[in-house]
Amino acid sequence: MLEGRHDSRRGRVSHAILVLPLTGLLFWADPYAADRERMVREQIESRGIRGAELLRVLRATPRHLFVPIAGRRMAYDDHPVPIGYEATISQPYIVALMTELLAPRKTDRVLEIGTGSGYQAAVLSQLAQQVYTIEIVPELAKSAQRILSDLGYRNVTVRQGDGYKGWPEQAPFDGIMLTAAPPEIPQTLIGELANGGRLVAPVGAGWDQELVVIEKDANGRIRRRSAGGVAFVPMRPGGR
Ligand code: SAH
Repeated sequence: MLEGRHDSRRGRVSHAILVLPLTGLLFWADPYAADRERMVREQIESRGIRGAELLRVLRATPRHLFVPIAGRRMAYDDHPVPIGYEATISQPYIVALMTELLAPRKTDRVLEIGTGSGYQAAVLSQLAQQVYTIEIVPELAKSAQRILSDLGYRNVTVRQGDGYKGWPEQAPFDGIMLTAAPPEIPQTLIGELANGGRLVAPVGAGWDQELVVIEKDANGRIRRRSAGGVAFVPMRPGGR
């Protein structure tokens, strides 16, 4: 109990517990707070990610809770971590970079393909209005749904299904992010992008991929650019 207790005998409130040093209290409540702070400073800020709101969200999101217990020690390390079913939770810097490239606004509706652990969806949900996310592996869809709802990220909807099919009932989206790599960006997803929207995706066969950013202007014209090399889990062919 952190609230002051009313001491009826003396008729005053006792706040003894609040004299605990604040930092001690924070570490007691979240043993990974120091690791997370170091992750943001050494892997993200130092590599040029500057958005104050994004940095605040990365500091606030308990990444370790999205990693299975066996990998939890590595949750804040500078690499992806396996989460089972041939999936990984992306490297922290890549989550930050792709979020910065997508640049979600508070009023945006965002689609993610490849829910995986749910971490990227949790980050997006704190920057956008609503996040829809599709995961092909039923067990991952279920566990991501559970952790997102346990942690109170209420504006995320998880669907188990094939990302190649998009989410027509909820389209169009102001932002679309793929976190599994298709050989080429599916036309269905480009079609579900609103005018003025952005799509960020790793694209390429096998593990040799580039990060692609697509912008659809107010007239529906497409502009495409590359933002460097990446290595994502390949997107599984759907339709089976
Ligand atoms: N964004 C995730 C990282 C996911 S790794 C996170 O923050 O943890 C890529 C995920 O894409 C895997 O979970 C994989 O199962 C999923 N995936 C692969 N092919 C897919 C497809 N066709 N449709 C939807 N999800 C797919």
